[in-house]
Amino acid sequence: MKNLIERVSSEATATEADVVSLLECGGADVKALYEAADCVRHDTMGDEIFLRGIIEFSNHCRKSCDYCGIRGPNRTVTRYRMTPEEIVETACQAKQLGNTTVVLQSGEDPWFTAERMCGIIRAIRQQAGVAITLSIGERPLGELVQFKEAGCDRYLLRFETSDRDLFGRIHPDDDFDERIQCLHDLRRAGIQVGSGFMIGLPGGDTGTIARDILFATRLELDMIGCGPYLSHPETPLSARPLLEDREIYFKTMAVLRLLNPRAHIPATTAFDALFEGGRDLVLTRGANVFMPNVTPRKFRALYQLYPNKPCVDEDSGQCSACVVGRVARLGRTIGKGPGHSRRGPEKNSSQ
Ligand code: SAH
Ligand code: SF4
Repeated sequence: MKNLIERVSSEATATEADVVSLLECGGADVKALYEAADCVRHDTMGDEIFLRGIIEFSNHCRKSCDYCGIRGPNRTVTRYRMTPEEIVETACQAKQLGNTTVVLQSGEDPWFTAERMCGIIRAIRQQAGVAITLSIGERPLGELVQFKEAGCDRYLLRFETSDRDLFGRIHPDDDFDERIQCLHDLRRAGIQVGSGFMIGLPGGDTGTIARDILFATRLELDMIGCGPYLSHPETPLSARPLLEDREIYFKTMAVLRLLNPRAHIPATTAFDALFEGGRDLVLTRGANVFMPNVTPRKFRALYQLYPNKPCVDEDSGQCSACVVGRVARLGRTIGKGPGHSRRGPEKNSSQ
């Protein structure tokens, strides 16, 4: 196993069988895998942790993804929508709290037309001067081009699972090929692309996770965002137990780092919902990005994609004080620049 870890670390390639072996490793090998991922992260991305403040600006959603707590048909959710002015003001606060990027995330909310989104992007650019990531679901190429022109730098859109049958079963409104096409369209529009998957979706096994890891790697992503699937009681997928091997969530992140040395990899919030100090652990096992929640406190509890979401009773000031402490305890530093893609031009040649 030590040889396999060394080979995958130095070559950054692996077969499906290799990845399954890494995901199934036990005992001292688990520690060796985490150390290898931390070492690759250190060598390629350095010790900076980039802060991307996330603004959950609307929980309206026209879609019905089977796993998601804010899916349109969930009548138990009180819906909210921040005004464009509130969003811009929140972005300015996020900048003051040390975030060099804001991530604007929402359900698929048609109220936020391309025109409205572009107005918000331009205002944030002028008033806050931070990099902007959108995470608002699938949009047509024409709109992506407009977002880019307005000043959008990056976009997060997970493929959720690389198993197209499973994708079809849990996405009543979506088509797998269209989701992947949207990722290619983002690149054509000149936007840095982030994608990823949920770890441990019902209907998958270790082989599925291995294929998801390899699929994400083949996409040559600028950012890879993955987190544990957490079952939400008000969804059709609710009755799913957690994966038995709790380490597999972290092993997945470590293997992603070995195979994608230069990708930005966030320690996603869902890790904190599942493990005490989960995000800190991921930051020592391959991740280099942290996404503090900067959503105004009054909306936080209403944006529950999954239960047990951390930080719902805190305000942005508390969250940023907490992140400063977390970064210092890890012996790392807070990223100074915008933290743009580290992939070389040759990797983004399809742009
Ligand atoms: N509507 C946008 C952005 C919000 S959802 C979109 O769908 O892209 C952001 C991510 O939350 C999704 O991509 C999904 O991977 C994750 N998510 C939703 N429900 C979840 C659950 N029950 N457990 C873990 N992650 C979940
Ligand atoms: Fe809506 Fe995104 Fe949730 Fe799907 S995952 S229901 S698109 S918020």
